[in-house]
Amino acid sequence: MSSTVPSDVVVVGGGVAGLTAATFTARHGLDTLVVDSGESILRRNAHLENFPGFPAGINPRQLLDLLGEQADGAGAERLTATVTAVETTEDGFHVETDDDDRFHTTYVVAATKNEVGYLDGVDGVGVVDRGKTFVDTDDRGRTGVDGLYAAGRLAEKPHQAVVCAGHGAEVAVTLLEDDDRPFYHDWVATEGYFTDRGRDLPPGCEEVDEPERRERERASLETMRERFDDAHPDDQVTHPSLRED
Ligand SMILES: Cc1cc2nc3c(=O)[nH]c(=O)nc-3n(C[C@H](O)[C@H](O)[C@H](O)COP(=O)(O)OP(=O)(O)OC[C@H]3O[C@@H](n4cnc5c(N)ncnc54)[C@H](O)[C@@H]3O)c2cc1C
Repeated sequence: MSSTVPSDVVVVGGGVAGLTAATFTARHGLDTLVVDSGESILRRNAHLENFPGFPAGINPRQLLDLLGEQADGAGAERLTATVTAVETTEDGFHVETDDDDRFHTTYVVAATKNEVGYLDGVDGVGVVDRGKTFVDTDDRGRTGVDGLYAAGRLAEKPHQAVVCAGHGAEVAVTLLEDDDRPFYHDWVATEGYFTDRGRDLPPGCEEVDEPERRERERASLETMRERFDDAHPDDQVTHPSLRED
């Protein structure tokens, strides 16, 4: 077994909820690791037409790639593996994978849709069985076990990508607040928006001047042109019961 690598947050599940949560925690300075087995159910969608911001829809596998790239850019690490166990420790959790990696972390965000088996070793997790399994949470994604959160479909959010992404963000903000991070909002504003009104720059916010804004827009346009230059190479994924392999 490899040595225990510490992190602040381990996000279990890198679908829409997990990747969005990771983007928020990483942007705010928490060492964030996403462990994902690569089977987001969104991969089965044929063409995603109700995710805001894409008026002609988007290939869902492309969207997942973009969400992953955004988490990377925010500073999150990503590992392809299956989490097999989470155990509580005096100061957080141990997370184990099927590759025998072992991580110590202060927080766990579970975002695994209906997969809960790896939480068996954590006392106090409320698992709800309604044909599919879900984790019981409060309205901000807290499970009742300090430091353990559930996000997206796993927290019984409606089975829609944008809702699950939004919930990932909400859970991450909740975690930042619970961690007592200095945090007001994750906002980028124009130069002087706060400070020219005699206000300090609120924690979590950033002001950018006009050259910097233009540079960020240029980089964004370049990235999006590259990513949308060609059709996404991944094959369409169907229901496991319909697969021939
Ligand atoms: C055919 C189909 C079409 C759909 N079309 C739409 C649509 O048009 N619009 C819409 O809004 N929604 C659509 N959805 C629903 C949408 O895909 C889900 O609501 C959304 O993906 C849920 O997000 P999530 O992050 O909670 O779960 P997921 O995106 O499924 O992510 C869960 C992740 O957890 C990982 N995981 C699970 N167990 C482990 C483990 N032990 N260790 C590590 N990783 C693990 C999985 O590999 C997966 O990547 C569709 C779903 C299907 C099946």
